Amino acid sequence: MTSSEQTTSTASQKETRGFQTEVSKLLHLMIHSLYSNPEIFLRELVSNASDAADKLRFEALSNGSLLAEDPELGIWLDVNADAKTITLRDNGIGMSREEVLQNLGTIARSGTAEFMKNLSGDEKKDSQMIGQFGVGFYSSFVVADRVVVETRRAGASADEGVRWESEGTGEFSIETIHHEQRGTTITLHLREASQEFADGWRLRSIINKYAEHIALPVYLRKPAEKEGEVGEFERVNQAQALWTRPRSELKDDEYQTFYKHIAHDYEDALSWSHNKVEGKLEYTSLLYVPGRAPFDLYQRDGARGLKLYVQRVFIRDDAEQFMPLYLRFIKGVVDSNDLPLNVSRELLQSSDIIDSMKSALTKRSLDMLAKLAEDPEKYAKFYAIFGQVLKEGLAEDHANKDKIAKLLRFASSTTGEGTPSVALADYLGRIKEGQDTIYYLTADNYTTASQSPHLELFRKKGVEVLLFIDRIDEWMMSYLMEFEGKKFQHIGKGQVDLSQLAGDSAEPEVSAEQTQQAEAVVQRLQKALKDRVKEVRTTNRLSESPTCLVLDAFDPGFQMRQLMEAAGQKLPDVKPILEINPAHRLVERLAEEQDEARFSDLALVLLDQAALAEGAQLDDPAAYVRRVQRLLQGV
Ligand code: ADP
Ligand code: MG
Repeated sequence: MTSSEQTTSTASQKETRGFQTEVSKLLHLMIHSLYSNPEIFLRELVSNASDAADKLRFEALSNGSLLAEDPELGIWLDVNADAKTITLRDNGIGMSREEVLQNLGTIARSGTAEFMKNLSGDEKKDSQMIGQFGVGFYSSFVVADRVVVETRRAGASADEGVRWESEGTGEFSIETIHHEQRGTTITLHLREASQEFADGWRLRSIINKYAEHIALPVYLRKPAEKEGEVGEFERVNQAQALWTRPRSELKDDEYQTFYKHIAHDYEDALSWSHNKVEGKLEYTSLLYVPGRAPFDLYQRDGARGLKLYVQRVFIRDDAEQFMPLYLRFIKGVVDSNDLPLNVSRELLQSSDIIDSMKSALTKRSLDMLAKLAEDPEKYAKFYAIFGQVLKEGLAEDHANKDKIAKLLRFASSTTGEGTPSVALADYLGRIKEGQDTIYYLTADNYTTASQSPHLELFRKKGVEVLLFIDRIDEWMMSYLMEFEGKKFQHIGKGQVDLSQLAGDSAEPEVSAEQTQQAEAVVQRLQKALKDRVKEVRTTNRLSESPTCLVLDAFDPGFQMRQLMEAAGQKLPDVKPILEINPAHRLVERLAEEQDEARFSDLALVLLDQAALAEGAQLDDPAAYVRRVQRLLQGV
């Protein structure tokens, strides 16, 4: 018995297997939700064939014989109008039996797996969600009720071909076959409702759109001139890598289509930046700002980085060495002329070439964002999605701190709710004469911040205060000490002095009697609250409210404490300072109170109310309620 016979007899056995449950669910959902845009199957299949060619070229770098027998890579598309089939062949890397099982029977890709995890079970909601994830190969079943894949791995013999077949319901079959050519052939048997695609002209108009940016020739068989004849294959694209073409030649929708291909995205990118660098280093980069967040944006091991090419040869996806972590949402391609084709992981990790490329690409990205910011509507969309990630840059990237700070946006005491829109430069543009400080306040949300008693004096004097309502803002501020020479100050920490400001006429009028009263009340409050506060003092920052809580300048605030708690760190025992408004009617009421028990109730209620106004939660809400009740009943 020859060895090849042996292979055929032992491994050709046809098996029928069930899809992984998730695949069945995915297929079902996809067929029912993507019917409004069925043509995307072609984009996915062309994209896979192009990836397969890239992978083969890469393997051929170290094993030239892989390409030798069939060196002209391409995609061949054929339609059979009578049989209602579409056939798409590539001579790329192909798949072994194991790979077919892995790739076309399970959900191997983390993106899709994550999508499946997030399914709610509500078909309508899930259908909307599916558009957010790359659905890939399985989208064939949107138009086909039978899909046949025949493939042969590069380097494998003709007897190691694989045939995979499924109707996209619960199961698929797999068998080993004899397959002459390297690569993958996919045959779609079109559904009744999708037979419009069995038309050469129709297919041609779609393929033009999806093949234009593919760096691989795509051939389409021309429809026959006469009945009974077979048309010729005709090339339908230029097959020139998009980024190698001059900017002036490229249209927006070509950039967008290319973006969708490399980013596996369904939505348009918000902007892009395409540059050819010549000189000491030579490379081309095409960077994109996506319009939506990937599911793994906040996962440590989330996929990130650029597609790396060396002299037009694909090297790897997700080369993360070219971007800092806080720009991990940037997608794109970088094609270097300086790196060796057999660039190793070690080389990527530490090389002067990579370092200078990284720093140039970082600047390029920040400039692209600055440009995007000129369109406030688009920038608001960007900021709502990636603003938080960008803030990490203040800690990570010292050198570009100023550029990053300029890209930040905040809510402010002078704007309404919604995506933060005030840039630090806007703030400086409105700053009061004599003001050398940028004032801000941190809180849990917009309402708490905008209603904070701390703002009373600032409102009265017309001084703008930035509202930092993102949970990492306080942490971020430990890295941002000043902006264009102006210091930052948290108005809920330390003392606030606005007396140097021009137009200062709004000092609260406090009579000598009120001051005297207030001093006595401060003493008594201090005694009543000695376990709960660091200090009690009078203030001029309040006009309507009787009290507020203040922290010492370097004590961690509310957000910081929450972050520390979430990180499992021990919280320092920080007691607040209670400030009282000497001109407030309640101070008079406190001064009049002779009953020490009732005074103590009043004091504790005032303290708790000041905490509530900050958006804090009371340690003992029941005790607070009991005290208020006693006071209401006049006990
Ligand atoms: P993705 O392309 O995002 O990885 P797909 O669902 O489109 O996901 O494809 C799944 C996998 O199947 C691919 O990652 C690849 O390994 C394999 N595959 C699909 N089409 C081909 C092809 N034409 N040639 C070789 N492998 C392919
Ligand atoms: Mg794919």
